[in-house]
Amino acid sequence: MIVLRNLSPLRVFLAATVILVSLGLYVVANAIQFASDYRAVTHTYTVLQHLDRIESLKHQVVAESRGYLLAGRAENRDSFWRIGGALQREADVLAEHVIDNDAQHGRAVALRRALDARLRLSVQAMQSWRAGATMPGDAPLLMAIRHGDRDIAMRLEHLRSAENALLSTRSRRAERSAWLTLLAAGIGIPLSLLLIGHAQRRLARENRVRRQAEAAASDSNAELNATVQQLARLSDSMAALSQYSSMLQGASDAQELYEITASTFRRLLPGLGGLLYVIRASRDHAELVAQWGGAVAPNDPAPALQACWSVRRHAPFAMDDLRHGLRCSHIGRPHGAEDVHGLCVPLSAHGEVVGWLSLQGEGRGRIPDESLAIRLCEQLSLALANVRLRESLRHQAVRDPLTGLFNRRYLEESLAREIARCQRRAQPLAVLMLDVDHFKSFNDRHGHAMGDAALSAFARMLKTRCRPEDIACRYGGEEFTLILPETDLATALERAEDIRAGAAMLRIGDAGDAMLRITVSIGVALMPEHGEVGLELMRAGDRALYRAKHEGRDRVAVADVPVAVGEPMREVY
Ligand code: GH3
Ligand code: MG
Ligand code: MG
Repeated sequence: MIVLRNLSPLRVFLAATVILVSLGLYVVANAIQFASDYRAVTHTYTVLQHLDRIESLKHQVVAESRGYLLAGRAENRDSFWRIGGALQREADVLAEHVIDNDAQHGRAVALRRALDARLRLSVQAMQSWRAGATMPGDAPLLMAIRHGDRDIAMRLEHLRSAENALLSTRSRRAERSAWLTLLAAGIGIPLSLLLIGHAQRRLARENRVRRQAEAAASDSNAELNATVQQLARLSDSMAALSQYSSMLQGASDAQELYEITASTFRRLLPGLGGLLYVIRASRDHAELVAQWGGAVAPNDPAPALQACWSVRRHAPFAMDDLRHGLRCSHIGRPHGAEDVHGLCVPLSAHGEVVGWLSLQGEGRGRIPDESLAIRLCEQLSLALANVRLRESLRHQAVRDPLTGLFNRRYLEESLAREIARCQRRAQPLAVLMLDVDHFKSFNDRHGHAMGDAALSAFARMLKTRCRPEDIACRYGGEEFTLILPETDLATALERAEDIRAGAAMLRIGDAGDAMLRITVSIGVALMPEHGEVGLELMRAGDRALYRAKHEGRDRVAVADVPVAVGEPMREVY
């Protein structure tokens, strides 16, 4: 069995086949031999039958001749000749039958001759009887007859015993080959069956192992495919992330960031609706600045900061089941009967949470592509931080820090732009130059800090009296400029008077201190009457302001004549 175990099933099958084929050949050979033996035995029996018939015919022919000798009947003589002829033919047939066996053939031919001789003796006896009509008393003839009979009997016996010997040899051989066939079949067939059974078991086991291996291969193939698909998705995600990041970097302001974010999320996470919240500067609540996809749950457009778990935890917050599980309070219970899941991701800039992004969609458990969503939000956070920084730098570059009004540089840039715009539209433009009266003595009396507070209060008042298209600037120190696009002289005067009155009404510092008041003087210049370029207009306004000061302060004066461009501006402070 150890040998069999080491052989492959194919070899075992081959061995079984060789045994079976050999066995088959052996059986066929034995069958052929058996058939030949059977024919030989049949032949022997035929020969023995011929011998019996020869013996019988010989006895008959002798009996007929004796009958003739005793009774002289012609029938006996006729029978003698007829039977004698038959005896001779039978002897010839016998000789023919044993022609393949030289020894027996020789004996048969000799028998034929002995029979002929004996027949001749009988004829001789019958002829002598005819002559004497008595029984032959010829002793030599009788002796010859007796001798002939013995000779024939002996020859028949030789032939018979030779045939019997052949018969027993052939029977033994046939018997042996039958036994050998049986033995070969008895050993070969069970052995072959054993080998085939063993090979079949081995094959079945190998098939099982192969099927298991195939199943394992198919599993690992599926795993490989999944990995390839995951890699492809990852590569797509990386490409999408990098595209999103570069678009964000190109955004000029926060509004563009919101639009890019909405379209990117709609494209990359198509099954999910999204809401982008930004925390207001006051940090009292957040404001919904962008929304995309279908709303699967009601959402608060102005939630408190504490409404979002992701803001509280400073980490993404996954909601596996919005219908029954824990959820942020800015999300209401879903409308339909479907399961809804969601994810909120905080957006941080410079270590401070500035907003969050909320994703919601139909389903249960984690949202698909959660990690992609988080990475997109990281990009958005960075971009938001950048935009905020840019906006703050821009603000710092164009705003006066004390009053929040535009600075002088911005004034000069925007005045030229506004003049060009109004000229294109054939509209007037007014420039107001404002200066706080006796501010030096205000400072002296109430201190510089109170002076700052007065300037801030005045700037706030100024802003409240401005339209969105007006540009209010701190020109320097306690001097201000107001550009009023598309404003004629009457309106400009009206607005200047309003501002002057507003300044006079201001209460600075503690409400109880009635002494802390300021007044302003205002000079008004108009395009095109007092100039067509910014510098001309500002000089004209400045001259009007100077006049207002001169005439007693706390008043409005209009520029009267165009001023030459070469004339120097009055210095501020
Ligand atoms: P007038 O009515 O002629 O304009 O008199 P005035 O005192 O306002 O004019 P002057 O140019 O002599 O003085 C301006 C003063 O404004 C001097 C300066 O101390 C004060 N001032 C300028 N900038 C600031 C500021 O940012 N804060 C404070 N508190 N004072 C300022
Ligand atoms: Mg002044
Ligand atoms: Mg001044």
